[in-house]
Amino acid sequence: MFYTETKGELARMMPDSECCVLSELSAIARSCGRLEMRQHDGESGSVFEIRTESAASARKIMAFVRSVFKFKPKVRFTHRRGRRPGNQYIVGLPYDTETLKILQDLGVVSQKRDGVSLRNGVPWHLLSRQCCLRAYLRGVFLARGYVQNPEKEYHMEFMTDSSAHAAGIVRVAESFNVTPKIAGRKKGHMVYVKGGDDVAQLLRVMGAHSAVLTLESVRVLRGVRGDVNRVVNCETANVTKAVDAGLAQITAIRKIDEIIGLRSLSPGLQEMAELRLANPEMTLRELGQMLSPPISKSAVNHRMRRIIHLAQRLDGKAG
Ligand SMILES: [Zn+2]
Repeated sequence: MFYTETKGELARMMPDSECCVLSELSAIARSCGRLEMRQHDGESGSVFEIRTESAASARKIMAFVRSVFKFKPKVRFTHRRGRRPGNQYIVGLPYDTETLKILQDLGVVSQKRDGVSLRNGVPWHLLSRQCCLRAYLRGVFLARGYVQNPEKEYHMEFMTDSSAHAAGIVRVAESFNVTPKIAGRKKGHMVYVKGGDDVAQLLRVMGAHSAVLTLESVRVLRGVRGDVNRVVNCETANVTKAVDAGLAQITAIRKIDEIIGLRSLSPGLQEMAELRLANPEMTLRELGQMLSPPISKSAVNHRMRRIIHLAQRLDGKAG
């Protein structure tokens, strides 16, 4: 998977300079660290925990902590259940005055009158060099970033819980001539870019060179496929007909989404609609095979008719 491979590549990459270790650790600790009250080694007290789902990231965080804090951190491993199950590695730092001091220097936490909290914004004092700006972006991506498979869509995002931090991430990206947008999400603020050029540039900035190569070759293939499709569509009436039917289905699905939302569809129809939106070029047979359990071409066709019929009815009411 493109996302997993990209994260793996970045997690295995160790910065050359101490300055970059500081800024990358700062980004990771700010993005997925938190202050916890808990039992620690039989004593109750506070601990600063950095959580990650990837073993490679956990190893990187441990190496960073060893070099910056000069001690070997404790690591716990849990298996998270619930809606997004998966492994979790928790790197715990004992929360003493020395740790607090370093976390403050790293711009991860700040001390106010009512106590210590995660700091808002980006620690610009660590980011005077270009290498450190790159490292910071890499840290935020490793901690809470996502990149979509380029065969589906060009999309890269960085999540954060603070609007000031989101604005700071945009400024970091802007120093590499990319201007991401910010969108509000339930779980915070999403800094994102769309478009092959911007995604490739940010991957390059972070140092994900294999990912850039993969993305570029997908772009070439997509371009070729687009050209072939255009030729075939002009020449073959059948293909044109199928493409037109696909387009009509997508128009109908978008209309339903706009007027009443896809969530108001029955689960079967909603699943069909989302599958079609994500795979505009697939045949009905292929769409049917994507479902589990798979359904026949005529069953797919039946669902599509119901979707188009509903869109027509909604259209009549709206107009
Ligand atoms: Zn640096």
